[in-house]
Amino acid sequence: MMEKKEMLYEGKAKRVYATEDPALVIVDYTDNATALNGLKKGLIAGKGAINNRMSNHMMRLLEKKGVPTHYVEELSERETVVKKVSIVPLEVIIRNIAAGSFSKRYGVEEGRKLALSTIEFSYKNDDLGDPLINDYHALALELCTAEELETIKKYAFAVNEMMQEYLLKLGIILVDFKLEFGRLPDGTIVLADEISPDTCRFWDSKTMEKLDKDRFRRDMGGAEDAYQEVMKRLMGD
Ligand code: ADP
Ligand code: UDP
Repeated sequence: MMEKKEMLYEGKAKRVYATEDPALVIVDYTDNATALNGLKKGLIAGKGAINNRMSNHMMRLLEKKGVPTHYVEELSERETVVKKVSIVPLEVIIRNIAAGSFSKRYGVEEGRKLALSTIEFSYKNDDLGDPLINDYHALALELCTAEELETIKKYAFAVNEMMQEYLLKLGIILVDFKLEFGRLPDGTIVLADEISPDTCRFWDSKTMEKLDKDRFRRDMGGAEDAYQEVMKRLMGD
């Protein structure tokens, strides 16, 4: 069994560890929750295990449907072996329905279905507060190549199509979500990081109830139950 060696990185919600294989790392999911760029801190009990299992479940599904991912093997409730990548410093955000910063920025009521699904990028940089960035800026700053950007867009919209269809059958509307991509040593672009209620907005398709991190961000209560509900629908437990 693969074992954790030194910690390479401690993020806001996960820790990344080296392994005996330089091409592989172990990701360890915690219950730590942050919002407002780390200003708001708290715990969502059981979240680490749920995010780990959900993310792996989705990545296995996406991989089968032709989107390459970093996923290798689930080690335990909270730990997964993934391919080590060099992260492209972009948060790739897809939206189907107006919510959050999009609603605020453009003065659109939350819940309005968008005439088409959109993509936007934030520059992944905590010190700068992950500012919105456009394609030209990303290329001018050499965050990725034009070819990589095209691949990322293609995969991001493909993930949206597959996840929307899959989740709707479980009574979940995929409002918006954030993806991160990375490069393998040979330059291949793969989907990395996580797919979970931390990084997606999920609404119950009947009641429109929020089943994601907005319950924590907005102090609505019931975050633990919401994460568990998503897990139950996904895995039947
Ligand atoms: P943050 O850095 O935003 O606080 P996390 O707590 O989720 O985020 O930490 C996980 C870190 O690991 C993130 O910086 C993410 O980009 C990075 N990461 C995700 N997948 C991989 C991977 N396959 N290889 C290397 N780093 C990864
Ligand atoms: N998101 C994320 N990490 C971030 C910013 C956003 O996972 O650092 C996700 C968030 O969960 C939502 C989508 O990206 O599903 C769009 O978020 P938005 O821009 O509306 O930001 P917010 O309202 O969270 O500030």
